[in-house]
Amino acid sequence: MTTHAPGTAAPSTTGPAVLPGTPVVPGVAWGPVVRPSGAVVLPPDDGIVVAEQERAGEKERFAAAAGVVADRLTERAGAATGVSAEVLSTTAGLARDRGLLSAVEQRIDAGTPAAVATVQAAQQFVELFTSLGGLMAERVTDVRDVRDRIVAQLTGQGEPGVPSPEQPSVLLAEDLAPADTAGLDPTRITGLATRLGGTTSHTAIIARQLGMPCVVAVGGLDDVPEGATVLLDGERGTVTVDPDPEEARARVEAAQAAAAALAGYRGPGRTRDGVEVKVLANVQDGAGARAAAAKHAEGVGLLRTELAFLSRAEEPSVEEQAAGYAEVFEAFPGERVVVRTLDAGSDKPLAFATMPDEENPALGVRGLRVARRDPGLLERQLDAIAEGARRAGASPWVMAPMVATVAEAADFAGRVRARGLTPGVMIEVPSAALMAERLLQHVDFLSIGTNDLSQYTLAADRLSADLADLTDPWQPALLALVQLTAQAGRRTGQPVGVCGEAAADPLLACVLIGLGITSLSCAASSIAGVGARLAVVDTDACRRAADAALLTDDPHAARAAARRELGVE
Ligand code: PEP
Ligand code: MG
Repeated sequence: MTTHAPGTAAPSTTGPAVLPGTPVVPGVAWGPVVRPSGAVVLPPDDGIVVAEQERAGEKERFAAAAGVVADRLTERAGAATGVSAEVLSTTAGLARDRGLLSAVEQRIDAGTPAAVATVQAAQQFVELFTSLGGLMAERVTDVRDVRDRIVAQLTGQGEPGVPSPEQPSVLLAEDLAPADTAGLDPTRITGLATRLGGTTSHTAIIARQLGMPCVVAVGGLDDVPEGATVLLDGERGTVTVDPDPEEARARVEAAQAAAAALAGYRGPGRTRDGVEVKVLANVQDGAGARAAAAKHAEGVGLLRTELAFLSRAEEPSVEEQAAGYAEVFEAFPGERVVVRTLDAGSDKPLAFATMPDEENPALGVRGLRVARRDPGLLERQLDAIAEGARRAGASPWVMAPMVATVAEAADFAGRVRARGLTPGVMIEVPSAALMAERLLQHVDFLSIGTNDLSQYTLAADRLSADLADLTDPWQPALLALVQLTAQAGRRTGQPVGVCGEAAADPLLACVLIGLGITSLSCAASSIAGVGARLAVVDTDACRRAADAALLTDDPHAARAAARRELGVE
């Protein structure tokens, strides 16, 4: 077999080409290639003016098309669950959004044909969302998706997006709109590979929830010929073109056996040699916590409190917050629950907490820094956590995001202890990793947020699909900072967990344990995969895998070294 670098053409004479990418969801899929249907042809603005007496009819035509699009997406949302259902309903909501609809209607009233008016109004919203940045900028993909669907409906083009092949197939795409990914039918599409996208992209998050084998940032995908068969390996992060059928069959069978082992996972997390490693869940509310408990999470390693309030104009009351936190505590009686105080700003803007018009929000007043301007916000949230804990009879741990200095950690710890709670901080900024031991003189635990730590260590926007190779959690520089932080915890005897997406990768989870991490927290859908893998490895092998990965120069080599040391096929 041959491998070739991202972006280069697949060799045709030396056996099956193996295209490397970034693995997102483990599992193996083998089948014919399908691709999303071609781009919708958008109408040019050729200055045609709709006669005045026809404008009402044109508006009706537009309303009917938008209605069909919204209804279709709503129907798919009804058939989906979790994040997929949310994404599909959000996109359906956009096709019914009064602001967007009236922007189109105003243009039709002025004589612009419906399809052109749709393109122009969508562009207005794209520019608005882009200028707002952060999560709003991510909505640009949704706006373009809805625009294409409405234009296709108006102009008689086929519905854009993913085909529904008769035979189970592997989908290869440039990138997918969130609604396309969420609407995938796992009985027809058995694996997904994209040329763009990182491990924290929407595509990745939804594929993880669907449990669909997925590899992103794959170079050379465009060169895979129509009619080819591919073997997609979501753990190795490879797409093999026209593989040897015997080998492909064996790999699929091995993956099925691994999946069967996952189905039997009941926790608690421990390595084969009996070292306990808590496998916890990342959740955003009580419903998520209950779902995680059903998937055998041993507790919550990260309650992202800001996510419940993303659409709120005003700060929620202490009473409302306390009730929400109590629900989460009640899902895990007597177990560990780590609450993160509001991580507002940058990719998660909150109307009541975020500074508008920052030049560079990722480096701005986000996370704990919001308390510099508005200490009352933090104080009231801590009151609410304490009240929720009192009601549920819980003893939660409480941590702050985006801590950069010892003074910040000391100040936060004081406020948390004053309420009888256990303080910790997240390690998301390289300065905090470098000062880990000094931070531990003030707080009782650390939790490494690898999504942000990789963004700030590699100086690469975590949302940028073009820079996904830099924010890959296997970057040896990131692993070195994880090791530094874990060693600090070992010296002081305090726990150091990982709660970023890195902890959802079963292979990387072993390396993290080898680096000295004491607990892992990931999406509920990843818990069984991580727990089942830990159960078949010894801590010595984890340590060897960690040492080997640290000595490599890039993420691909780090993965390969870890596989070798862990004896993973
Ligand atoms: C992280 O940065 O890794 C993390 C867990 O926090 P979030 O993804 O919510 O920023
Ligand atoms: Mg973070």
